[in-house]
Amino acid sequence: MSTDSKNTSKPAPAGAADNAPASNFLRGIIEADNAAGKYSNRTDSLGRPLPPVVTRFPPEPNGYLHIGHAKAICIDFGLARDFGGRCHMRFDDTNPTKEEQEYVDTILDSVKWLGFDWKDNTGEHLYFASDYFDKFYEIAEYLISAGHAYVDSQSADDMAKNRGNFGEPGKNSPFRDRPAAESLDLLRRMKAGEFKDGEHIVRAKIDMASPNMNMRDPAIYRIRHAHHHRTGDKWCIYPMYDYAHPLEDAIEHVSHSFCTLEFQDHRPFYDWVLERAAEGGFFKHPLPAQTEFARLNLTYAITSKRKLRQLIDENIVDGWDDPRMPTIVGIRRRGYTPESIRLFCERVGVAKADSWIDMSTLEGALRDDLDEKAPRATAVLRPLKLIIDNFPENLIDECSSPVHPHHPERGNRHFPITKELWIEAEDFMEVPSKGYFRLFPGNKVRLRYGYVVECTGCDKDADGKVIAVHCNYFADSKSGTEGSNNYKVKGNIHWVSATHALEAEVRLYDRLFTDPHPDAGGKDFKAVLNPNAKEVITAYLEQGMKAAQPDEKFQFERHGYFVADRVDSQPGRPVFNRVVTLKDSWGK
Ligand code: ATP
Ligand code: MG
Repeated sequence: MSTDSKNTSKPAPAGAADNAPASNFLRGIIEADNAAGKYSNRTDSLGRPLPPVVTRFPPEPNGYLHIGHAKAICIDFGLARDFGGRCHMRFDDTNPTKEEQEYVDTILDSVKWLGFDWKDNTGEHLYFASDYFDKFYEIAEYLISAGHAYVDSQSADDMAKNRGNFGEPGKNSPFRDRPAAESLDLLRRMKAGEFKDGEHIVRAKIDMASPNMNMRDPAIYRIRHAHHHRTGDKWCIYPMYDYAHPLEDAIEHVSHSFCTLEFQDHRPFYDWVLERAAEGGFFKHPLPAQTEFARLNLTYAITSKRKLRQLIDENIVDGWDDPRMPTIVGIRRRGYTPESIRLFCERVGVAKADSWIDMSTLEGALRDDLDEKAPRATAVLRPLKLIIDNFPENLIDECSSPVHPHHPERGNRHFPITKELWIEAEDFMEVPSKGYFRLFPGNKVRLRYGYVVECTGCDKDADGKVIAVHCNYFADSKSGTEGSNNYKVKGNIHWVSATHALEAEVRLYDRLFTDPHPDAGGKDFKAVLNPNAKEVITAYLEQGMKAAQPDEKFQFERHGYFVADRVDSQPGRPVFNRVVTLKDSWGK
């Protein structure tokens, strides 16, 4: 056995995700548009030049961002940055359900933490779709006047019935051909609050027989007597997502509107809305274009906001930032770095078809990022006392080892060796199994960075449980001294001084689910929770760990990567989270 973490994958140079973007079809589309000059020479409403690439990241402020959003963020912000454009941070808050400031704040914080910014030299590109409510309404009035929309007064049941089905055309509403003036009057009265929710609805007039259900006179405005977090009670009618989204893009001069695949069938309506609005003089060509990419599905995780909330509500996890959660705040607290998330997104790439990405890809990105960065430290997680019987009672001898094995310039760390040490319980076997080279009576091992010792026996309690191991040391065998070469041993174990070690709470986190597809096909994800996803232990750490700062990451040699918890650590009393083990023990 070895105490060296031999990382098989190549360490990624810092910033690899930023410097060497892999080619993908979205990049290809931007390059082709740039080559054709599609979005060059545009100006905004004040006549200022616009970059040829303007993207947006448009979350609804109704939950915390998760790892899937990180992919969208890397695409939206990453591509804009790579092509010298800009990405707008836009809250899609057209729904009057209680969108909360808490969500707005955490979303902004997560995007910044991932390393992206909506500010550039032209200003702060932070937008709220609700700021465009007047414009959406104005365009709705135009569409009605131009004969492209009407107020439908069918009951919800009739509307559903008349929509038809796949392979079965829908039926025109009896209100479809009511005069534009009548629809307009109704819309104004809807806006004035004269009707109850659901009494009327505004629909685009397209084609009730279209094979694309989204083109069968989709709704564009509905009545909702509800309070909005920004516009208060000003509105009691609200635009539908499919109508508002293209308009938001056009209002902001977005060029490339990237979204996930489920919106593919909505694209014809996206284009329809923009073409009609352009005819009405609201926008100029070239109009924004929507392109869909595959959403990120990560094994051993769930990303539905509703289900994540359920985990919290049922006390299965401790909150949005529980280190087992796939939320950005959760993986951040777990100890993931923004660089590792960006590296992960780069490695996952952008595909046009849905697929599953294995959790080991995310964990591998973290290992590759931290292998280079993280200082090494010693931690004994399952302690057993080792007593060096021939070691002078009060001697405190100093040992040292490199902060990082590949970076001598980062210096050495120093720690004392004393008569009583903590070692890992698994590093002693009274009766060794075949191929076991660690401590057993009569065997010699090296105490890593210290002395060679020979095991002499152990103490047991009344139940026969081993409670201490005894050994003698060889005073001329200290690592780094000349004599050390005279000792050839097969085992090398880590240890900390029992008199100097820092006792600390360590949380051993693991994957939250035991099934790679916890909620696939409507499965009950609560039936496949990993009972070992969180284990809290008391460990003994190298004394220097006392100075660990919240969020500081280490490699505990032989064990994995750990972070000082950013919430629960106190000065001089850090609490550690295991981010990931050194090697993948889950297999594929
Ligand atoms: P929910 O999980 O509740 O359906 P949502 O995906 O609708 O959430 P939004 O806030 O609307 O959440 O998402 C913002 C952006 O993030 C959208 O452009 C969406 O396409 C993208 N996004 C959401 N989930 C993923 C995912 N798993 N992979 C890639 N992009 C995603
Ligand atoms: Mg959504």
